[in-house]
This record gives sequence, structure tokens and C-alpha cells, in this order.
Amino acid sequence: MKIGYQGKKYCYSYNLIFNKINSNLNVKPIGYKNFSSIFEDLLNNKIDLGLIPIENCNGGNVKSLSSNGMINYDFFYNYNNNIRILCEFDYEINHSLYCLKDSSLDQLKTIISHPQALAQVSNFLKENNLNSKNCWDTAGSVEEIMNLNDKTIGCIAPPNLDLNYNIKVLKKNISNNSKNITRFYLIQNNNQKFKLVYPENNIVKFSASIKLHNHIGSLGDFLIEIKKSNIDLTKIESKNISNNNKIFDYIFYLEGYGKLPKKIKNVDILCFGEFPIINSNLLICKENYISIGIIGFGRFGQFLAKEFVKYGWRVYVTSRKNYIQEATNIGAEYKNFINFNKLDLDVLLISTSILSFNTIVNKIDFNNFKDSIIVDVLSVKQYPKEILLKYVNKNLIFTHPMFGPDSAKNSWKNLNFVYEKYNIDKNVVATKFLNFWKYMECNMIEMSCEKHDKFTANSQFLTHLTGRILDYSKIKLTPVDTNGFKLLYQLTQNTVNDSWELFEGLAKFNSKTKESLNNFKFSLHNIENKIFPNNFKESSTGIHFKKIKELQKTKNIINCGIGIPSWEPPNNLTKNFPSTYTSNYGLTSTRNKILNKFYNGGNLENIILTPGAKQALYYSIKLLTKPGSKWIIFIPNWVSYKQIIKINNGDYIEYNFNENYKKLEEILKEEKINGIIISNPNNPTGFYYDENIINNLITITSKYKKFIINDEVYMPLIKKMNYYESEYYISISSMSKKYGIPGWRLGWIVANKKYIDQISVLQSNIASCPSHPSMHLVNELIDNNWEPNLTNLKNSRIVIGNLLNSKLKKYGKVIIPKNISMYLFFIAKQNIDELINELLEKGLAVMPGKDFGIKNSFRMTLNNNIDILNKMINIIDSF
Ligand code: NAP
Repeated sequence: MKIGYQGKKYCYSYNLIFNKINSNLNVKPIGYKNFSSIFEDLLNNKIDLGLIPIENCNGGNVKSLSSNGMINYDFFYNYNNNIRILCEFDYEINHSLYCLKDSSLDQLKTIISHPQALAQVSNFLKENNLNSKNCWDTAGSVEEIMNLNDKTIGCIAPPNLDLNYNIKVLKKNISNNSKNITRFYLIQNNNQKFKLVYPENNIVKFSASIKLHNHIGSLGDFLIEIKKSNIDLTKIESKNISNNNKIFDYIFYLEGYGKLPKKIKNVDILCFGEFPIINSNLLICKENYISIGIIGFGRFGQFLAKEFVKYGWRVYVTSRKNYIQEATNIGAEYKNFINFNKLDLDVLLISTSILSFNTIVNKIDFNNFKDSIIVDVLSVKQYPKEILLKYVNKNLIFTHPMFGPDSAKNSWKNLNFVYEKYNIDKNVVATKFLNFWKYMECNMIEMSCEKHDKFTANSQFLTHLTGRILDYSKIKLTPVDTNGFKLLYQLTQNTVNDSWELFEGLAKFNSKTKESLNNFKFSLHNIENKIFPNNFKESSTGIHFKKIKELQKTKNIINCGIGIPSWEPPNNLTKNFPSTYTSNYGLTSTRNKILNKFYNGGNLENIILTPGAKQALYYSIKLLTKPGSKWIIFIPNWVSYKQIIKINNGDYIEYNFNENYKKLEEILKEEKINGIIISNPNNPTGFYYDENIINNLITITSKYKKFIINDEVYMPLIKKMNYYESEYYISISSMSKKYGIPGWRLGWIVANKKYIDQISVLQSNIASCPSHPSMHLVNELIDNNWEPNLTNLKNSRIVIGNLLNSKLKKYGKVIIPKNISMYLFFIAKQNIDELINELLEKGLAVMPGKDFGIKNSFRMTLNNNIDILNKMINIIDSF
């Protein structure tokens, strides 16, 4: 901010600007040769303010040396309504006498200075027989005597100039009167609007002029009205304003205290300003002044505070650490948290880390900030909005200045400032707050928090992620770097200059980030796969083993190629079950028997046996999940699907299936979707997806070349399974449930040969083959046509289901499965943790349903043992 004054550096006006006017707006004093140029430049907006001496208590009205009789008041009259007085300073003048270094008081004959200064030291000059000579400026007179280089010439000027010039001070404080005060006006162009901040005083003065009609008693009449208006007139002075058109033409200059009307009787009053008298330091701000408090004075808080201060706002800050020094250095005021909470603020701005935001907001005394606009600057937006709305329901502005100390170190011009206003009734302050960002030339983008997060999950998060990844890779500059690489390097530096908490926060608290990360992984995988196609190889021992087995069919070959022990436990202990490896696919006999027993036959090439159905699921998901891709899993779902997907770097969408295939198709269309995983009948509900549903699901999945993994481990309890011809259909099942042999670990996959072969490769590396004895046992069970008697289990779902529905009606209900089921799934309307505990206390343990994807629910495993069923009935009956 430029302030014009008349004189040279170190003159009284300069010193006043320098000492009293706070430099928050980066004050730059500009010296002028005369007062009229100051008024001219103010008018042309070349400077922001002017400082004009108006009257000295000893020397009277101040005027320029070349003023032709004009006093400084006259400028206000001449510039009419364009220039306005902002405030008055009463400034102590303390003249000193100077001479050349090699001169002395005895040698001096003539003293030069501004006529005002000479008048104020006239006694001293007289006593010392010194002549006076006018100079345009007090400080300017110092330069004058140095130029003249005459030992007989000295000067009167402000104190301490000997520190800045090569001159000698002869006498200090030589004014005629011990009190020597000059009144200065700080003035501005009327279209500029500044706000003054100073300790409250209620003195409001006016300065004005009137022109009276020239008739008897006109002044008297005017003064009587002034008295009636309760105005304390401190000065009235007539001034000749003659010009060529009219000579001996007079006006009156008035000063005083009170509210001056625009007109008194017929007399127009030309007011030059109503203003305070400042006896202390003054802070000048733009008119859009506000007081703003910042919580969180970290890197970004400090970066913002500095600019707020420069803009002229009163800035208070608080933080976890003590930042008194940092705050003082930039002109802000540090308060501890307790005192901060008592401040009267226009705007409360929260700039803490995203991770600590919730804790800190919880400690804010929002009662005290009822009249404030509450602002946050977090790099995520939905999260602070949700939290703040728990405490405040109006006057909120959620903002994200999308730049920081590095990217905006030179300018904020055209950088994005995203904001959402929420229920604002303090419009004036809100506008002033937003005007600051406009003033900084930000690109103002009004946008909902939701939309912001959606966009920034891609732009902001990916930028930071790239920087962090490159930093982890420890990239370094080399002499041959391209501009592209230099940009990447700069990005890395900027990113890591921000705290890790900032990155973690913006990643964790933007719900859309996970999606961007998945995209990133997915794309990276696809690109990598394009360059280095994924080529799983069968284990070489497996290949060799197969070859030897084949040869052994026709030749007598000693197998010394594979690490098969040449010993085994005695037969009576192993019941004649072989202990060797089998083919990666499992025993041909067992595969055949399973296809015939549990399916309506099928090709051997379509089945592989695995160590349990979990392993079968793992292989299938491993094979078909690209990093970052997703599976659709229906709600409720078996607990391990999500885990196995995650182990394989994938993700999932939990989907509420309601036979709306169109909606499902929309999701399936997406490139990153692998397909659907279902359990049929459903674990935990026992719901049976009939053939119609399965057919429909197969149709829509294969339309988009997406997979359907049908986990049918409970199906053998109900009926035979279908093998569908779709290339993309995978059926998984096991012996565990049907035969009650889960510990034998024998499961299988029935699918298209292409995938069976690929899974056999995986199996060859991971498990070699399923348990050989188990396959023999299963062969025996199937050959003997052994079937468990499950009559009790079959009935239990109805008996216990009905009992639950009558006894626990007030909590919720079970939908009883149509077919035999190992489970009942109870869904409640409210939290049933207590009910689950009570059941446990009474001796019945159930599985809380949260992990199946439904919060207030539990899964109850049914039993085939009548005694146990009776006990279960008794417990439920006791409710
Ligand atoms: P930050 O690491 O995100 O936040 C640092 C601030 O959080 C410090 O003031 C720190 O206080 C405070 N803090 C951290 N943990 C705290 C806790 N447990 N209790 C109390 N205070 C805690 O770094 P930043 O760069 O300064 O960012 C501040 C905010 O501005 C963040 O929300 C960020 O998203 C947002 N933002 C930053 C940028 C940027 O370029 N940096 C740009 C736009 C928006 P102490 O220093 O007292 O420990």
C-alpha cells in the first residue's frame, strides 16, 4: 500500500508513517515535492493514502513553500468530495539543529529549513543571532547543507538524522514551546475504502467548510444553529479564496466534535471527513476487514495466515504446539486453546490435519462462535461436512484451496478455490471472506462437497499417490533428464513437502479414493501384462512326474526323478490307503465318481479335485482376479469370499440381489468387474437360487464375458448339481457337508477345461494334489452308496424356525428355507447384541451376522442330533 507524504525520507511525515502506521498491508511511503501532487496522485489512484500535516500548535496552518498563499485546508475545499479524511494524528515535533561535521555553533550564520520549522524555533534563532532561510522540507534541508558545503550554514530538522547523514547534531529539542504538536490528516480517495483498526476511542471529529451569504448576522445565525445541534466547534477560520473572477471571496474552515448535518438553514456544509484522532498505533485494512481465528497452525495454516494478515485481517491462531514466535513474525496473534475459544471472531477457520479433525472439532466451544462463519480447508470435503453438521447447522463454508505453500509460492492466480456454502445468514461476512480469494485471483469454483470428493479422488489423490510412489522409488535427477522427468521429480518434491498425515487423511477420508487406487492397480496390472504376459508354469516336478507315470504304463521304470519317499508306514496303520502324490487333477476314479454321483455325469477334463472347497475357491478367485478388479457378491454372503478376494488384491461390491437383472447388468458391464460369486443354497440364509435364476445369471454374465462362481457346497444335501455349458460358469463343491467329513478336505471345481487346466497349474505349485487317502475314502463311500440319515436336520429348520419366529417375534424373524438347510438366519430390526449374549448365557451360541453383510442378525447352525435339537428348543422356548 502506497502512502504519499511531502518531503524526504526521515522527515516528520515519513517518521509518522514509519512509526505509527502498521505495515500489515506492506506500507510503502512515497515522498513528494509538494502537497498538491499528493492530492493529484490520490485522485488518479496512483497512491492509496496521503499523509498531510494540517496545523502546528505553534506555527499555525501548514502550507507548501510554493503555495501562493494556499494552506493545506484549501486542497480539501478544492478537491471537494473526492478526497476524504480518514483520521487525525497528533504528532510530537522535536526539532534539532545540525551543521557540517567540521562546523560549530559559533561558525553558523544562516539556518535553513521548512518555514514552519523555522517559525517553531524562532526564539532559538533570535537568541543565537542566526538568520533563517526557507527550504521546501525539514529533512530536505539536511541534504541542502551538505550540497552547499558551507560551514556557516546549518539546518533545523527531525531528530537523529546524524545517524543517517554525515552531519553533526548541535542542539536537540529547540522548539519555542516545550509542547510542539503537529496535527496530520491521513487522507484517501473517496472511492477507496479502508478500515482502520485502533484501540477503541469515541472521539469523532469533523473537518468542513461553509460559504456564508454576505449579509449582516449570517455567521451569528449559523453559530446559533451549530449550538442547537450540540456541536462542539473547536475551530472556525475564514480564508480568502479569491480568484480572477472574484476577489476578496471568503469561506470558513470549521473543525469540531459532534454530528455535522449536511445543511444548516440555507448553508451547505462541505464535510472533509468525520474521523477519529489516533494516539496509538494504527492498523489499516481494506474495508473488507474481518477478524479470523485459525485452528491448526501447521504448514498450511501458516501459509494462509500470512496472506490474511497482509490483506489486513486481524488474525488469531491456535494449535497443538506453541507457535507464538511464528505467529508474531507474520503479524498474527497466538492464543492458547482455552483463550482462543473465548474470542469474538467473524470467521473461525479450521486447518488441522484431516486425521485429527474430529477430535479437535469436538473440543471447540461452538456456543462461543454462534455468530461466526465456520470454515474448514480440509483437502477432503464430505468428511468435515458430516462432522461439522453434528455441531453447527448454519453459516458454514466448506472449502478446499487446491494449492499449497509449494505450488502457490509465487502467486495464487488462477488456482482453484472450491467451496460449498451451507445455510448462510451472515452474508456480509461470508462475502468478505470469499472476496479475499477473489482478490487473490483464485479460480472460484462453487461445488458440492460430494462432487468435489468424486473429482479429487482422481486428480488430487492420484497426483499425491504418484509423488509418494516415486519418492519410495528414490528417483534422482541425472544429467540426461527430459523435461517430463524433471516435472515428475518436482511433483515428488512438492508431494513429500506435505506431511504424511495430509496424504493419509486425504486418502482415507475420501470414500472415492479406494476406487481410484483400484483403477490404478488395475491399469498397472493390465499394462504390465501387456508387456510381460502372465505365464504361470506347471511345477517342473509335476511335469516330470506326469511324464514318468505315462512311461511307467508301458515300461518298467524306477522313478528316481521325483522326491517321493521310498518308504511308507505299515498297511495296518494306513488301512491300505496309498501315501503317494496323485495327478494334479486328483484321482481319475474319484473325479468320475463325483461327476456321476453329484452331477448328471460329465467330462473328466472339466473337473479338478482340490484340498477342500475353500482351496477350490481360492484357486478360482486367484486365477480370475486382476489387482484392483471387483467381484459382485450377494448380501448376505459367506464370510470368506471377501477375505479371499482381498488376499488376491481384488475388491468387491456387496449387492442386494432382487432379480432386477437390468441393474445387475449395468454393474457387470464395467470393465473392472470380474463377475459374480454366489453360494447356492445361500450361506447363511439357506435360500435356494432355482435353476431359472441361475440360468438368468449365466446369461447376463456370459453376455459380458464375466464369470459366475457358484459355491455349491451345501447343494449335495438337496439335489444333484447342473453343469452348465457356459465358458464362464464355475461350480465349486465338496464332500464335507453331505458326508459329514470336513476334515478330510476334499473339494472340487467343475468348469471349462481351459480354466481347469490353468487351475491344475496353480495346484501343482501350491498343493500338488488333494489328499490321496481322502480320495480313496470318498471312492468307498460312493461305491457303497452310503447316505447319511438327515431326517432330524430336515425337520429342525421348520420346528426351530417357527419357534424362533414366535418367541423372538419382537426382535425380527427367520425366513425358513424351502429345502433342507444347515442354517437359519435371523434378521432383526434393531441391535441384538444383548439377545445374542442372552442366548449364549443360556447355552446357545450363534454367529453374529455382521460378517455376512447384515448388521442386526445371527446365523444358527441346525443339528441332526435329536437331543441337541431338544436342548436348542428348550432354550429358545425360555424366551
Ligand atoms: P497437516 O499435517 O494435514 O496438518 C497439520 C496441522 O494439524 C498442524 O497444525 C497440527 O498441529 C495439527 N494436528 C495434527 N494432529 C493433531 C492432533 N492430534 N491434535 C491437534 N492438532 C493436530 O498439514 P497442513 O499441510 O498444515 O494441512 C492442514 C490442513 O489443510 C489439512 O486438513 C489439509 O488437508 C489442508 N490443506 C493443505 C494443503 C497443503 O498444501 N498443505 C492445501 C489445501 C488444504 P501442530 O502443528 O500444533 O502439531
